[in-house]
Amino acid sequence: MIALVEDKIAFISHPKASMHRMPFPKPHLESFESPLRFQMAERYLETSGALTEMVRVKAPRASLKDPLLVHSPYLVDTVELLSEIGSGQLGESAYASPDLLRAALLTVGGSMKGVDMVLGGDVKHAFVLMRPPGHHASTSNPMGLCYFNNVAIAAKHALQNDAVQRVSIVDFDDHHGNGTSEIFYTNPNVQYISIHEYDYENFGLGHYAEIGHGGGKGTNINIPLVETSPDISYESAINRIVIPAMKSFKPDLIMVSAGYDAHFADPVGNMDIDSRTYWRFGREIRELVKTTAAKGSVWVLEGGYNPFTIGPSIHASLEGLAGNAQPILEDQIDREVNKLIVESNDEIIEKVLETIKPFLKK
Ligand SMILES: [Zn+2]
Repeated sequence: MIALVEDKIAFISHPKASMHRMPFPKPHLESFESPLRFQMAERYLETSGALTEMVRVKAPRASLKDPLLVHSPYLVDTVELLSEIGSGQLGESAYASPDLLRAALLTVGGSMKGVDMVLGGDVKHAFVLMRPPGHHASTSNPMGLCYFNNVAIAAKHALQNDAVQRVSIVDFDDHHGNGTSEIFYTNPNVQYISIHEYDYENFGLGHYAEIGHGGGKGTNINIPLVETSPDISYESAINRIVIPAMKSFKPDLIMVSAGYDAHFADPVGNMDIDSRTYWRFGREIRELVKTTAAKGSVWVLEGGYNPFTIGPSIHASLEGLAGNAQPILEDQIDREVNKLIVESNDEIIEKVLETIKPFLKK
């Protein structure tokens, strides 16, 4: 049960977020980004009582102009046209369905509504439980189960408000948010911090050497942890990098790309954390809103593909965000921690710190 004292939290959702479905059976990756994950998450939060004290809001539909805040007209047109046709491939692991455009615009609308509610002073925080996710969608390319980059569009929308000069985005999804990173790579007003699983044997995007370009140099912070990283490595990444980097940037608004696929029981991600870490993110973001004097935080669902663990994981985040003690939940099982993995991550965190230090203000 979340007992709110002073901070109100909005819970933004819409039943039509369950309609889009890509035409693939298991074990295809596309089948995991399913209506079931959304329905199971919402049902868990309803039955656990997590929503009782939250302000429940139905996501409004965004207009077709809103995704143009970050996307090319070609991307927006093709999402619309292939949704009309009802099928077709828009990018790698990004296929259309007859319900895609409606679900995607509602997710963008819900994310923008979260920003409006926080900036308008209606609530301190907002959690947007919608799908499809967004952080892989770049300026011109839908991919990785993502079409419109919900968080990026909402961050751009926030920056149109005179009260917002800077936005920080924290992305704790298992995967690197290449889309968000690309969209804001040269933007000095948006700080993007991603903690993700990285394959050091097959180098890809999301390396800590990617720090932003031009005026945006120093605002792109990647924390590429190794496969099967445990809770303690996430705790170090939060304490040693996320907190000081955000205190240095002093955002007016904090956004969270809240992906829950780093959970140890997730069928897509390969990390080894449970809802105790998701509670920690909630608590630390709550504290960061206070210490940086940001107006609040807006959380938008990204990944998280185990329908049985996504509910407790979000529940834990909301408890942390509400300032409540860490709940004891059914997914919290003590697991053996591999010291070599922790040591590797400590070295990586050290390298990230060395890389970004010249850009941190005291
Ligand atoms: Zn992911």
